[in-house]
Amino acid sequence: DSADFDREVESICPFCGVGCQISLKVKDDKVKYVEGINGPANEGRLCVKGRFGFDYIHHDHRLTKPLIRRDDAPAKGLNVDPANWQEFFREATWDEALDFAAKGLKNIGGTGVAGFGSAKCTNEEAYLFQKMIRQGFGHNNVDHCTRLCHASSVAALMENVGSGAVTATFNEIENADVAIAIGCNPIENHPVAATYFKQFTKRGGKLIVMDPRGQALKRFSSHMLQFRPGTDVSMLNAIMHVIVEEELYDKQYIEAYTENWEAEKEHLKDFTPEKMAEVCGIDAETLRDVARTFAGANAAMIFWGMGVSQHIHGTDNSRCLISLALMTGQVGRAGAGLHPLRGQNNVQGASDAGLVPMFLPDYQSVMNDGVRSAFTDVWKSEDFSNQKGLTVTEIMDAVHDGDIKGMYVLGENPAMSDPDVEHARDALAKLEHLVVQDIFITETANYADVILPASAFAEKSGTVTNTNRQVQMGRAAVSPPGEAREDWWIEVELAKRLGLGWEYTSPADVFAEMKLNMRSLDNITWDRLEDENAVTYPSLSPTDPGQAIVFADGFPRPDGRARFTPASIIAPDDVPDAEYPMILTTGRQLEHWHTGSMTRRSTVLDGLEPEANCSLHPSTLRKLGVVAGEAVRLTTKRGSIEIMAREDRAVSPDMVFLPFAYVEAAANILTNPAVDPYGKIPEFKFSAVKVEAV
Ligand code: SF4
Repeated sequence: DSADFDREVESICPFCGVGCQISLKVKDDKVKYVEGINGPANEGRLCVKGRFGFDYIHHDHRLTKPLIRRDDAPAKGLNVDPANWQEFFREATWDEALDFAAKGLKNIGGTGVAGFGSAKCTNEEAYLFQKMIRQGFGHNNVDHCTRLCHASSVAALMENVGSGAVTATFNEIENADVAIAIGCNPIENHPVAATYFKQFTKRGGKLIVMDPRGQALKRFSSHMLQFRPGTDVSMLNAIMHVIVEEELYDKQYIEAYTENWEAEKEHLKDFTPEKMAEVCGIDAETLRDVARTFAGANAAMIFWGMGVSQHIHGTDNSRCLISLALMTGQVGRAGAGLHPLRGQNNVQGASDAGLVPMFLPDYQSVMNDGVRSAFTDVWKSEDFSNQKGLTVTEIMDAVHDGDIKGMYVLGENPAMSDPDVEHARDALAKLEHLVVQDIFITETANYADVILPASAFAEKSGTVTNTNRQVQMGRAAVSPPGEAREDWWIEVELAKRLGLGWEYTSPADVFAEMKLNMRSLDNITWDRLEDENAVTYPSLSPTDPGQAIVFADGFPRPDGRARFTPASIIAPDDVPDAEYPMILTTGRQLEHWHTGSMTRRSTVLDGLEPEANCSLHPSTLRKLGVVAGEAVRLTTKRGSIEIMAREDRAVSPDMVFLPFAYVEAAANILTNPAVDPYGKIPEFKFSAVKVEAV
């Protein structure tokens, strides 16, 4: 009823990478409710998070004033109660807080300072953040949560197809007749995308689900391969072995568009389904059937998530998926393509904007002199380091080594999100100067020297880019609370105090600068996005809504050819033994978002899932003598937590599934920081664990 609101503002859901367009209904400067509108990715649909997960915006825990740590504050890291923060911090004016933040970072200077940005921020904020570290401190020690998400997928895609983004939008599944969904759980994690998957199966499309954990998508699948955790490469290589053995591959496509096929073919010889069945736990006949089904498709897509990427062999897992698509010619056509489902709402855009230690915007290498000078010409500044910077986990190691002493954290929560969080928390406590910019006193802010109160998505304007490469316009609908300010404004004011002379007056100014060195934004302007809400990149003309499918005629690699990179079996880093006999895997739940700072402050979402929980098979519970609802203790080589057990037949008897949104039973106390050598992504999906009754 329009009487319920006095303003409607169109924006983008702040949660997952689907990027649903929404209409915020506002009354008295408060968001009253949210409706889905006709965006290219959602066509009016929303999931429970997008529809009901907005009241955190007006939560009374919101930061409303800049805060500086008191000289007599208790030790860093103690939990700061939002109702009793005065014991730890004192209020400051913006000028005082910004001067203090800048002075502390400047005094340390150079490679002693690192930056953690966020995929929750807009493209403009991500661009400014990486620029500040590079221009202000002369190096590339800047990263964000893509490192914990799809870094290995991007490494494999860059290596083998020449671009880290998806080759086709997920909506293209409507033109496919076969699809693989591996290591992803879209009904919980990309719920609106999952509605397109379900429609596809209702039309007769064959959906092959591959996951060590059962899931709701199983009901819609033609094949459900519940393989042993960590054995992706053996299973995928066996499927490709069958395609080679039975000559089901697309010879013409391979000859026209790829390289290194002979090496791949040779490599696959050893991976017979019979041999690999013993490794991955899927019988040989099923592997053959899946190979024939996929290779026999007219158009097929492959979707994957963190079940593929968060392994020490995450890049190898993705290499296999890319090879499977290439050998069957399933790229660059309607209904065909490779699609790593992006996690956070702007992880694609923040990565595109250069918020990573090895690339400037548009994945241009920091090691290339011409690339750096193109940016410093625009920035009117000195050259900066030609060495790749440190990643999220390497930055924490460098703090322990005494090399990094100052940090600027914008919207990220490494005290919850890093693997082996005790190691990360000890690092945060060691810092001489920590600047945290956020909307709540997060677990990371417990360690801050200064906290800068920032804005929620509904309080700021800026562009974000979803999993489909759709650049979309987010708009401010309500005012930030108290003296909280838009993130871009805070960054600009901080940069001025670092002596960088920034003079932006709006996010539109920043976007205009980004376009100077980002060919992906050609034909996409701020005004166009204001008018159209979304444009997919690449857009070939000022009126082209953008290309849903890319690489119809070759790849952005030497000679236009994609590459087969053979992958061998690498065992997980932390394998079960007599002391830690089970396998721990972590992930998200439908109702909660990442470290929970927003969704656990949303009344409906927290009401639906109020308590930390882990999932165990009924036979495991029986063996432990535990009834669902009682507590269990989970212990790995890194730490221990107690948590309520749930009965769940979707996990196998040797597995525990643990959501990571709950601070009172933080999953990452347990997880393993060992990383994939290419993408540097930690192995969140596999740790040896001991489970005991409490
Ligand atoms: Fe938001 Fe993702 Fe749900 Fe869409 S599917 S409403 S983007 S959380």
